[in-house]
Amino acid sequence: MFHSICPLLIFNDVLFKDKNGKSTQIDHIVIRNNGVFVVETKNYAGRIYGNDEQQKWTQVLAYGDCKNQFYNPVKQNNTHVFQLSKLLSMKDIFVSVIVFPRAELYVESDQLICNGKNELNEIIHSNTNIQLNRDTLNKIYCKINESKIDSDIARVEHIDNIHKMQDKIASNICPRCNIKLVLRQGKSNKFYGCSNYPKCKFTKQIDDQDVAV
Ligand SMILES: [Zn+2]
Repeated sequence: MFHSICPLLIFNDVLFKDKNGKSTQIDHIVIRNNGVFVVETKNYAGRIYGNDEQQKWTQVLAYGDCKNQFYNPVKQNNTHVFQLSKLLSMKDIFVSVIVFPRAELYVESDQLICNGKNELNEIIHSNTNIQLNRDTLNKIYCKINESKIDSDIARVEHIDNIHKMQDKIASNICPRCNIKLVLRQGKSNKFYGCSNYPKCKFTKQIDDQDVAV
């Protein structure tokens, strides 16, 4: 029976590395026959403003007296999906979900962004166009299970890698492909994009130096 091989198809707080040593941390991965749900949780309170294109989203607290910016979680989770897709050598089976359990959301996004457990549950049980059979589910589970890293040292290294990657981005190098970012003209503004485009869609705004992944 399938369940005897894979008792629980949920991973929490998964850390893994790609061939180049680049590490990725994913809050939750839920593997079901209707898709592999890649879940990023953000514990921010207050009101959250942002859209898919912005590099930074804004958290507004205390009736507007306090504003904080944080890296666009849609872009962040797209990177997680990209790395997981590379790890599994599979495409078009992933559903990105971002959960803000404590915030009021004022966001515009084509992706699934929700408020809490109930909504997340609905999403996970919804109809997607994805169909995965038992063998595939099993393969995905086992691949993640054998690739994930559990040591504390690896976690310290992960933080270290994030800093290294921020340095890379600051010196206009694509953190995914390790090649130069080039200046491109968008609809309304100039931005840096990976020279590997359209294969790699990494972008950076011109004044954006501190990016968290
Ligand atoms: Zn790239």
